[in-house]
Amino acid sequence: MSLLWALSAGPVPRGFHAQSMTNVQWLLAVILAQHALFGVLWLGAAHLRLARHPAAHWAAMAWIVVPGAGLLMLRGDVPTWLSVGLGNLLMLLAVVALRRGVQRFCRQPPTDGEHRLILALGVISLLGTAAGGTSVYLAVMLAGSAMAWTLLRAAAEIRSRLSNELGPGAALWCAAPLLLLGSVIALRLGIAIVLPERFATYLQQPGGDGVGPVFGSLLFTLLLQVNLVLMVTLRVVRRLQHQSDHDALTGLLGRRPMAERLDAELLRQRQRGGCFALLSVDIDHFKRINDAHGHAVGDAVLQRVAHTLQATARSGDSVARMGGEEFCVLLPGADLYSAERVAMRMLNAVRSLHHPELAAGSGVSISVGLAVAGQPGEASQSLQRRLDQALYLAKAAGRDCLKHADEPAAPLAAAVA
Ligand code: GH3
Ligand code: MG
Ligand code: MG
Repeated sequence: MSLLWALSAGPVPRGFHAQSMTNVQWLLAVILAQHALFGVLWLGAAHLRLARHPAAHWAAMAWIVVPGAGLLMLRGDVPTWLSVGLGNLLMLLAVVALRRGVQRFCRQPPTDGEHRLILALGVISLLGTAAGGTSVYLAVMLAGSAMAWTLLRAAAEIRSRLSNELGPGAALWCAAPLLLLGSVIALRLGIAIVLPERFATYLQQPGGDGVGPVFGSLLFTLLLQVNLVLMVTLRVVRRLQHQSDHDALTGLLGRRPMAERLDAELLRQRQRGGCFALLSVDIDHFKRINDAHGHAVGDAVLQRVAHTLQATARSGDSVARMGGEEFCVLLPGADLYSAERVAMRMLNAVRSLHHPELAAGSGVSISVGLAVAGQPGEASQSLQRRLDQALYLAKAAGRDCLKHADEPAAPLAAAVA
């Protein structure tokens, strides 16, 4: 479709004969080869299951552009219905394939009713070019409007649907080529309405086109394709980042990102003061659940407790699975009072969970240790030690309770029981 834009920028040289090919003709040939190559690339991506359905749509788009653009290049050499009419219909089909791929990528239901209408307009446009006279003008305006609409809608879909996943800046960047092309086509249609004589020149006067516009079209095709590749790459990178930061069973943060957040919180506290709190959460007698009901039931209980901890935390808190049935909660800005409130909420929420896999009446509880980092400059290891001690106290006190680091320690024998 970038080619349509390039071709629309002026008439195209008549005939393609290798011995007499001009620079412009060479560039146009390169653009066709470029589309065909990107078609192969997208087919490879689909084969490798990298965004399989969108990639298959974009391969189809690239290959439909080749005959579509090829026909448009022959404007003046073959009947108008064949070059402009069929060329535009194929370009519309390519644009629909592009948008359908975008919709699959954005996990949005395809707007197939709208696409069928757009293709019907393309067929009407083809018939219009066959009728000749002023209907050629109307036909091209119809196909151009449908194309601009489809491109602008696809750009809007990328922008709105991918902002959360890729970030607003990246989503806008990915939508930009479609926005640009849709706007340029709309602008050209506007000019054709105001200055219809320009349109007549476009249709009837074959001859040399400037290298500049065709070269621009080549760069534009590259930009569009690179942006589609970027969209897929960004999704893969974000997914890998998420997988490396999160625990596969519970979906909570892992130990490493939690340590990074704790370091960042300690640094923030050293620079700006204030306090924050940590909770260490451990499921009580979890081994018994595994032993009595099997590992799969243990996993289900772990997932349920993890989900409950996450749901009970405040927004801005970080909940991580540190390993096994142990969790850590970072509460930025929390003093002893507010940290105790969060911890008590968690204790109550876990206690009242229903576990259909376990025998009636056998509930699951957690023990919680709490440490408040109130002294700027406290080392991470010292805070960790106080937190471990607090959890130890909770276990020693009979489990299913909250203890904080500064409470007097229970006798060692009680803790080990
Ligand atoms: P306490 O109240 O003192 O914490 O006793 P506990 O049984 O919960 O603690 P213990 O450390 O003795 O046992 C922890 C168990 O957690 C042992 C291990 O098999 C189990 N576990 C660790 N990771 C997983 C997991 O991913 N899935 C399941 N199902 N079990 C796990
Ligand atoms: Mg335990
Ligand atoms: Mg444990």
